[in-house]
Amino acid sequence: MTSYLTGLVGSGIGPSLSPALHEAEAGRHGVRLVYRTLDIDTLDLAPDAVGDLVQAARLLGFDGLNITHPCKQLVIEHLDELAPEAAELGAVNTVVFRAGRAVGHNTDVTGFAQSFARGLPDAPTRDVVQLGAGGAGAAVAHALLTLGADRLTVLDTDPARAAGLADALNARFGPGRAASAAASEAANRLAGADGIVHATPTGMAAHPGLPVPADLLRPDLWVAEVVYRPLETELLRAARAAGCRTLDGGGMAVFQAADAFRLFTGLAPHTDRMLAHLADLAATPA
Ligand code: NAD
Repeated sequence: MTSYLTGLVGSGIGPSLSPALHEAEAGRHGVRLVYRTLDIDTLDLAPDAVGDLVQAARLLGFDGLNITHPCKQLVIEHLDELAPEAAELGAVNTVVFRAGRAVGHNTDVTGFAQSFARGLPDAPTRDVVQLGAGGAGAAVAHALLTLGADRLTVLDTDPARAAGLADALNARFGPGRAASAAASEAANRLAGADGIVHATPTGMAAHPGLPVPADLLRPDLWVAEVVYRPLETELLRAARAAGCRTLDGGGMAVFQAADAFRLFTGLAPHTDRMLAHLADLAATPA
C-alpha cells in the first residue's frame, strides 16, 4: 500500500484537527498517511528550531510538513524554493519534500480564496473591511485582493500591524488597494462597506464576545469568519440575526488542508467529504 509521512510544526498544536482530516481523507483514497504533530512547546524548542525540524523531517523521509504559528516566516530561510503565493505573502504553511528539495507553499491563501468563492459567490467586493492583521489576516487579505476586491481596509487593535499589512498589500497589488485604520474606527469604515472579514481570535472559547458591536451589522453587509472553533461564532449568530449573508471559518480550514493534501500526495481530495468531517470534528470541544 502506498504510504505518506507528514506532520505539523508549531506551538500549542495538540488540539489541531489536521491529523484527523488528512489521515481520514487518505484512508478514503485507499492509501496510508501518517500525520504527526511536532509541537515546539512539548519538544521544549524555540520557534527558530523549525529549521532543524525541517532538516530532520527531510532526512527521515517525510513527504511534507504543515507549518503554523509562530514558524510560518521563520521556516522560509530553510527552504530551497517558494511557490509564488508563499513568496508574495512571505509566509509558508506547507512544505513539500520532493527530489531532495524542500518547497514552501501557502495554502491559507488558496484555501480562503476557494472558500470565499464557493460560500459567497457574487458577493460585492468594492469596499471590504477586515478585522485582524495577524497571520490569518495577511493570508486572507492577499486572497481577497487576488480575487479582485477593489479596496480593503484593515483594522487591528495594533495599528502598526494594520499599517504594515496595508503597506505590503499596496506594494504587491498597487497603490490605493489597501488602507489601515484603528479598531475604534469600525463604525465609520463599515458605514459604506460591502462586507466584513473577521480574522482575530475573538469568538474562540478563550476570547468570547463580538469583534464589532452587533448594531453595526445590517442586511446588505456580508460577513466572512475565519475562526472555526467553534464553527458558529457569536459574530456569525449576530450577523445572521441581522440578515447578513455569512461564511464560516470551516471552509478555509478545509480548503487549506485539501490543498496541502494534494501537494503531499498528488491525489485529488474530496472537499465536500472533508467539509462534513470538519463539521463533525469541530462539534467536539477542543
Ligand atoms: P494572530 O495573533 O497572528 O493575529 C490576530 C490579530 O488580531 C492581531 O494582530 C491582534 O492585534 C488582532 N486583534 C485581536 N483582537 C482584535 C479586535 N477585537 N479588533 C481588531 N483586531 C484585533 O492570530 P492568527 O494566527 O491570525 O489567528 C486569528 C484567528 O484565525 C484564530 O482564531 C485562528 O484560529 C484563526 N485561523 C483560522 C484559520 C482557518 O483555516 N479557518 C487559519 C488560521 C487561523
